[in-house]
Amino acid sequence: MADSDIPDNSMEAKERTVPPNFIRHVIEEDLRTGKYDGRVVTRFPPEPNGYLHIGHAKSICLNFGLAGEYGGTCHLRFDDTNPGKENIEFVNAIQADLRWLGFDWDRHLYFTSDYFDRLFDYAIALIKMGKAYVDSQSPDEIRQNRGTLKEPGTDSPYRNRTAAENLDLFEKMKTGDFGEGACVLRAKIDMAAPNIVMRDPALYRIRKQPHHRTEGLWCIYPMYDFAHCLSDSIEGITHSICTLEFENNRELYDWILDALNAYHPQQIEFARLNLNYTVLSKRKLITLVAKNHVSGWDDPRMPTISGLRRRGCPPEAIRNFCERIGVARRDSTVDFALLEYCIREELNKKAHRVMAVLNPLRVVIENYPEDQTETLSAVNNPEDAGMGTREIPFSKVFYIEREDFMEDPPKKFYRLAPGREVRLRYAYLVTCTDVIKDGNGNILELRCTYDPATRGGDAPDGRKVKSTLHWVSARHAIDAEVRLYDALFSVENPGAEEDFESVLNPKSVEVLTRCKVEPFLKTAAPGFRCQFERLGYFCVDTRDSSPGKPVFNRIVTLRDTWSKIQKKGKNDS
Ligand code: ATP
Ligand code: MG
Repeated sequence: MADSDIPDNSMEAKERTVPPNFIRHVIEEDLRTGKYDGRVVTRFPPEPNGYLHIGHAKSICLNFGLAGEYGGTCHLRFDDTNPGKENIEFVNAIQADLRWLGFDWDRHLYFTSDYFDRLFDYAIALIKMGKAYVDSQSPDEIRQNRGTLKEPGTDSPYRNRTAAENLDLFEKMKTGDFGEGACVLRAKIDMAAPNIVMRDPALYRIRKQPHHRTEGLWCIYPMYDFAHCLSDSIEGITHSICTLEFENNRELYDWILDALNAYHPQQIEFARLNLNYTVLSKRKLITLVAKNHVSGWDDPRMPTISGLRRRGCPPEAIRNFCERIGVARRDSTVDFALLEYCIREELNKKAHRVMAVLNPLRVVIENYPEDQTETLSAVNNPEDAGMGTREIPFSKVFYIEREDFMEDPPKKFYRLAPGREVRLRYAYLVTCTDVIKDGNGNILELRCTYDPATRGGDAPDGRKVKSTLHWVSARHAIDAEVRLYDALFSVENPGAEEDFESVLNPKSVEVLTRCKVEPFLKTAAPGFRCQFERLGYFCVDTRDSSPGKPVFNRIVTLRDTWSKIQKKGKNDS
């Protein structure tokens, strides 16, 4: 917390430029040469097996952003080829998150499952060309015969089945004559290919599970590599942008489309977003939810879009963050502090200022009339005069932050102490005259006097005070709960740990149940974001607030406490 005055949150104005990314160059070159007749069609292809996270936001901003920039379209396509893990809850949540982020796919909502018939026909075509076969090896045998980076693979004994035989077997796979794992359809490419992806990859497998859209219609499902390129092709995608781990799969992407002589989009890979102090792997996020390490996908500590939304992060901040991190082909880890910086930057411009006391200490003004209430005028946002002012009630008894008082202050502590005068924001100068304690020496309340000539906070004689405190009138205060969040993990790269659950930060949330906030917040709607002066940005929780008893989530502190930690508490008071 700041030493003295209400801190100035205006960050250095960092210049915002659209980073020149290599994907733009590719698109511009294609537009110049007319490769796709001037079209730009991208897609965002989530698998509906979890909620979206901030890493997905990078891909979303990129795909929708490029389409928007070049007058193209961006499709939302659910890559739903894995029935056991996918469901309609995820489909709906993903769409809600995308809309909230500010993106619109218009009528371009697609599901890979809508193409199951066509994909099946493509598979038949490959079989007829002698470019795919049904392999009856067990999954273990297939794995063993794949070879290694140094050793070529071994041909399957079923590799030379005739097309007629393969058509018959594939049909039987489809009609459910075989159990899961009994056989797969594989592309017939080259078991000695240097790129292991090309060693007769599986195209179809048997899964006797109902699908959330096609229900029991199918018991064979296409593999990602087969479904993805063909879905892109069917939709007339021009630039199929994916993360770097698919680089080796590009050869297969191209092989399948070439083999079928299908319309051919260009796959382009970029580096995925990694963020420190959190995990961005769906599998790990699912574990956090399933094992109740967090309260759900929208727990405010989660790096999910729904978690960030519930915490109070504005969508603009996420979009600005994605723009700032840029797009490269080299993996890197972004500092969580950058996301917080983007959140602060946005909220500084837009958030309503209010006063709230998290750890209340009662103060009584001895020379203030018993039943008097004054209304003082407060600025709603110093960054935006258009947001106007509001009235704050002031009376004889008020609360200040316990940390703003010290009975025996060290040299650099400028806040309230016995005999010292400080300013109450928007109100008066007050001087502490007495400290009331219980039998154990705990401070119960303070007594002070006020100078009636200092209404508004300035002394007519020009005398200065070193500190301005926030406060809330006791009689008018509203009780609130405030939840302070910290990093979900206590190490920078939890994903690299053998057991990432063992490095969860035990102090990732602190719940304060006796907070006092100014009466203005009585009617604050769930989702309302504001700055508690001197404390940080907060948002009314959308789940746990009740009328008259708001619960606030801390979105972010006022300044970068992270870099402060790195500088070893340099500015602490
Ligand atoms: P995970 O690996 O966590 O399971 P995923 O990549 O399998 O995630 P999908 O639903 O398939 O999840 O992802 C949809 C799109 O989002 C893909 O195009 C993927 O490349 C992209 N994406 C996923 N994670 C990130 C990330 N961390 N940074 C950038 N893009 C990402
Ligand atoms: Mg994926």
